[in-house]
Amino acid sequence: MNSKNDSLLEKLRALEAVFLQKLPGKCEEIISALNDFAAHPDNKDALTVLHRHLHTMAGSAGTFGFSELGLQARAFESRIKPWLVSPVWTAEEVQHLATELRHYFTHAVADLRQAPDHESELMADLVHGEDVLNETRLIYLVDEDEDQQAAITLQLEHFGYEVRRIPHLKDLALAIATRRPDVIVIELSFPEGKNAGVDEIKRIEQLQRLRIPTIFISKTSSFESRLLAVRAKGDGYFTKPVDVVALTERIDTISQRDLSNGYRILIIDDDVVTAKFYGAILRDVGMNVRLLNDPTQVLAVMTDFRPELLLLDVYMPVCSGVELSRLIRQDNSYVDVPIVFLSSEADVNKQLDAVKAGADDFITKPVPPEYLVSSLSTRAERYRSLRALIMRDGLTGLLNHTAIKEQLEAEVLQAHRNGAPLALAMIDLDNFKKINDSYGHATGDQVLRTLARILRQRLRRTDIVGRYGGEEFAVIFPDTTASTARRVLDKVRQAFSKVSQHSEDVEFSVTFSAGVADMEKANDPDQLFDVADTAMYVSKQEGRNRITLA
Ligand code: GH3
Ligand code: MG
Ligand code: MG
Repeated sequence: MNSKNDSLLEKLRALEAVFLQKLPGKCEEIISALNDFAAHPDNKDALTVLHRHLHTMAGSAGTFGFSELGLQARAFESRIKPWLVSPVWTAEEVQHLATELRHYFTHAVADLRQAPDHESELMADLVHGEDVLNETRLIYLVDEDEDQQAAITLQLEHFGYEVRRIPHLKDLALAIATRRPDVIVIELSFPEGKNAGVDEIKRIEQLQRLRIPTIFISKTSSFESRLLAVRAKGDGYFTKPVDVVALTERIDTISQRDLSNGYRILIIDDDVVTAKFYGAILRDVGMNVRLLNDPTQVLAVMTDFRPELLLLDVYMPVCSGVELSRLIRQDNSYVDVPIVFLSSEADVNKQLDAVKAGADDFITKPVPPEYLVSSLSTRAERYRSLRALIMRDGLTGLLNHTAIKEQLEAEVLQAHRNGAPLALAMIDLDNFKKINDSYGHATGDQVLRTLARILRQRLRRTDIVGRYGGEEFAVIFPDTTASTARRVLDKVRQAFSKVSQHSEDVEFSVTFSAGVADMEKANDPDQLFDVADTAMYVSKQEGRNRITLA
């Protein structure tokens, strides 16, 4: 089994090899651009192409460890840069440069051609392959007690987790080595000993390079046991019978700690290999990275991916990074998304231009990975917390009323543009007033959070969930017809109705009613809300705990 870091190193090495493989070709491109320019010195386009090739080489060669080549390319670049502004070179100067440059890069190519060929399957995969993301979270439940386990497993599965039961403590280490879980839930005591669970977790932690979040469960609530759990760096402690709703809430908090750097980062760079290189570094620390090589696609990707930070290259063939950031800032929804330039541009004036165009920061290639990660995390974090304050509901963390309405408007436009279907569900808890009256407002709040969590976890990541009002929720299903949305939501309805809610020592369950409509039934967003709401009321009239199609 590869550890996470080994696999990053492997990826970076493979990308280096890909770069090395393409390098002679890139040097030859520079020579051929130079020949074009030398043959037609008054052709500005030829000069621009030459400059762009040199600039890209300056940035990427450094990134992949060819610092000498990078520095040379940068030196050549700065010599011809003034010519781009005012074409005042002499024929002599051009010839001089041509001779030097040809000499340097011809030798560089000859040296590189002698380097061994590195093509491997992994490389081919990195260059052409798609990244696969597994969204289901895996939980190992380690406990001898079959009955308790069965109950907890069933409940956790209602929340959309994948649960694997491990009855014997001795099997845990092998299971982890075979497939790493996201969270371990483990009993303190086993036949091997009163605190054997704690000891095993400590032992396993020493074998693993990355800690696996662990929650302890136990029949006892003694100070001594809790302290043991703390000393084994436990992330939670629950006494039996386990309150599964509280347990899932804890699991969520723990996984959100990981998610906190799951920032969505969009990298736009015409140089595919360099983009992948930085992308691999950011993915390794848990960021969610999308690469884009064609700047003309930016708006479509922005709507689809909703990046929390853009990392832009300065020189690209279609338009410059500065132009691109102006274009993005023109759209009101993106005035505050952080834009950071990652470029080999060392010219301070050019950097200033970028900042004027709305960039937040300028990072010069090559950049040490830790510096890149920390400066991007800081900016993305600030953006995310600001957005959360403005857009999120405090109790459930879902989009608030205003935000979900705004989202629906955007999604309706998008659906019209693509000729795609779009469905909306309105959800209202059944007899919720009674829950509050019987168990208190705090328990009611807990139920609202439970539903919010189940919706987020069981629906697709692209579905948009909001708290529309007190005990009313709305879900937008992009690219989905009403009948499909109803089928999906019905699974959530069934799962939710089976969750056992706790209040003191009482257990109870709650249901909801919903109405689903799609754009076949409405002309605009407001009408879609109305139609779905009316369908929801039909569900109420017909006995609740059901979903009606408009
Ligand atoms: P129905 O099945 O017809 O929807 O009945 P209901 O009791 O759910 O509907 P009603 O609209 O009469 O009552 C909604 C209740 O939801 C009243 C209100 O106290 C409660 N509620 C609204 N917002 C919150 C909240 O944030 N927390 C809690 N605990 N309760 C809330
Ligand atoms: Mg209501
Ligand atoms: Mg209600």
